[in-house]
Amino acid sequence: MSQSQSATVIFLGTGTSVGVPAIGCDCAVCQSSDPRDNRTRCAIIVELPGGTLLIDTPPDLRTQFLREKIPLAHAVLFTHEHADHLFGLDDVRLFPFRLGSPVPLYCEPKVEKRIRHSFDYAFSKTKPTHPGARPQLEFHSINENDPFEILGASIIPIPLKHGPNFDVLGFRIGDFAYCTDTNEIPPESLERLQGVKTFVVGALRHHPHPTHFSVNEAIEVAKEVKAERTLLTHLGHDLGYRETMAKLPNGIELAYDGLRLTATL
Ligand SMILES: [Zn+2]
Ligand SMILES: [Zn+2]
Ligand SMILES: [Zn+2]
Repeated sequence: MSQSQSATVIFLGTGTSVGVPAIGCDCAVCQSSDPRDNRTRCAIIVELPGGTLLIDTPPDLRTQFLREKIPLAHAVLFTHEHADHLFGLDDVRLFPFRLGSPVPLYCEPKVEKRIRHSFDYAFSKTKPTHPGARPQLEFHSINENDPFEILGASIIPIPLKHGPNFDVLGFRIGDFAYCTDTNEIPPESLERLQGVKTFVVGALRHHPHPTHFSVNEAIEVAKEVKAERTLLTHLGHDLGYRETMAKLPNGIELAYDGLRLTATL
């Protein structure tokens, strides 16, 4: 009998693109002393038996790794190329010293194109002045149809709509799925989510938004996915932790920075 293996998921960040608190905002949530109302930009770690997988590289990456005492990621996987999921990529610069090789980046071709453009210095043909002067990156192409392996774990891509003109990927790893930054999960993608036990989905605020689920919309989609536990992420400053949690149905919670859970692979 094959033993199923487990993975630890760590929420590095659970905040919307500008973070919570937002710069210059004096609302109750931005001024809250509850640490769960302090949200850095979205990313998670999945501690797989084969190593540490990082999903997205937000601008807060350095402080997130230090806070959670994570020394290294062995691979990075991207949901999409928006700035709040990408612009901490330079912080992986130290990893090749410990990996002994470039940092493997798994992403769709459109994300690779954005990375090559936004981080052009990492791909310069001129000789670096010293080791570690620029990030050493190595691309591995994925697409929305084909499952792939990273660090020995099988990962199923989940195509998602992020507004009318933009497609992103969620990912299913065993009985865990991570679907941030979406306002529509197409029917074929809902099929790929059947049987997940833990479902993470983005929910920005109470009122509708053109590119993100509202809380009520996320609750509706959670009812279709039917996971035992649904966690909302990519949260804005409308959603105070205590007030919002008190109103959510059973089985649906707000995620918070530092939250850990176990998935079965
Ligand atoms: Zn985002
Ligand atoms: Zn605020
Ligand atoms: Zn986005």
